[in-house]
Amino acid sequence: MELRFTDEERAFREEVRSWIDANLPAETRERMASGRTPTKAMQVDWQKRLYAQGWAVPHWPVEWGGQPWSAIKRFILSEEIQSTPAPSPLGFNCNMLGPVLIAFGTDEQKKHFLPKLASLDLWFCQGFSEPGAGSDLASLKCAAKREGDHYIVNGQKTWTTLAQHADWIFLLVRTDAGAAKQQEGISFLLVDMKTPGITVRPIITIDGAHEVNEVFFDDVKVPMANLVGTENRGWDCAKFLLSNERTGQARVGASKERIRRLKLIAKETPGGARPVMEDPRFRSRLTDVEVQLKALEMTTLRVLADENRALSQRKPNPASSVLKIRGTELQQAISELYVMAAGPYGLAAPHDPEADGRNEPDVAADWQTLAQATYFNWRKQSIYGGSTEIQKNIMAKAFLGL
Ligand SMILES: Cc1cc2nc3c(=O)[nH]c(=O)nc-3n(C[C@H](O)[C@H](O)[C@H](O)COP(=O)(O)OP(=O)(O)OC[C@H]3O[C@@H](n4cnc5c(N)ncnc54)[C@H](O)[C@@H]3O)c2cc1C
Repeated sequence: MELRFTDEERAFREEVRSWIDANLPAETRERMASGRTPTKAMQVDWQKRLYAQGWAVPHWPVEWGGQPWSAIKRFILSEEIQSTPAPSPLGFNCNMLGPVLIAFGTDEQKKHFLPKLASLDLWFCQGFSEPGAGSDLASLKCAAKREGDHYIVNGQKTWTTLAQHADWIFLLVRTDAGAAKQQEGISFLLVDMKTPGITVRPIITIDGAHEVNEVFFDDVKVPMANLVGTENRGWDCAKFLLSNERTGQARVGASKERIRRLKLIAKETPGGARPVMEDPRFRSRLTDVEVQLKALEMTTLRVLADENRALSQRKPNPASSVLKIRGTELQQAISELYVMAAGPYGLAAPHDPEADGRNEPDVAADWQTLAQATYFNWRKQSIYGGSTEIQKNIMAKAFLGL
């Protein structure tokens, strides 16, 4: 495989850069650059712009709004979006559910949902995990029983990211409690969050943020037409979806942007102190992370080049576990470097004009007050989408035959 970019690819990168410059609202760019996540309005607005340009779902088949591009061109677009930084298209819609519907959905489901997923007219969240079913996902208990042309869903999901914003949820439910193997009695359903009987309760994370939730289902009526694939074979959809979810978590472009900013910040002298860039231990750790990021970039390109085969065979690619582990380890390592760079100023609470007793804006820079919150928040990365230990198990089985 040729790992140098061609003239055409370099020209494409320039085209993407100028388009983003001309189209990304300044407010969104500033919020993202400060290390915050975009608001819902910012996410929707930006994805609609990408959709209008034909760039929201380039990895989908052309008939469903994708682009006939090489894996490298898709990588360039995603890297430029992440490194601007701008919001990436919503992963639940574009990387998880979309490819599942393309591979397993009915024609009606594809026609109805795919355009809305790509344009973010509908915001989906992911209802897989339950209090007793995380790593051991197949032991899930949330049940769907048939009643006429409907399922009746009862049970609970947990850790549901951004359920507070979602219009719909894709769910794994137990449809056959007596199946010989746990995996054989599971189905994949699409559920409108406005259906009576659904309750969303926030879980506040260690950094004080509200991004995850508990979701309760109490006699929730779901039309049979919302079943994806075959009843009791939802595990096939789940495995396929999880491997796509992990590929998206390498986030090489985002890590590059974080390092670029860190290098500028580390040369500053906060409060007259010696810039942390002069500390050889900091420089050595920074260099180490950069080298490892380059290696991850090369591995990502190799996995992407193989993606079309994986899609056509409807099989998950275990290499995505490598990307998940290394990508999250590096993002966590970068968050530690930010804490080092912030020094004692990282202990200052973020400025919040609406909260009593908070610091004034000039106590510390935005990036300093966010450094610790991000560090704590990003511990989640080696847990969600399948924990690091589980990814290692998958790799041991798939690559080493253990
Ligand atoms: C911030 C955040 C957002 C999330 N968002 C979503 C979401 O939107 N939708 C959704 O469905 N889920 C979501 N999740 C859930 C996530 O996928 C699970 O938390 C994850 O799969 C781990 O499951 P668990 O929390 O039940 O931990 P457990 O499975 O109980 O694991 C606890 C520990 O034991 C280890 N362990 C477990 N089994 C093994 C084994 N066989 N071998 C070796 N070690 C093992 C794990 O690695 C972990 O360290 C989110 C989680 C977090 C933290």
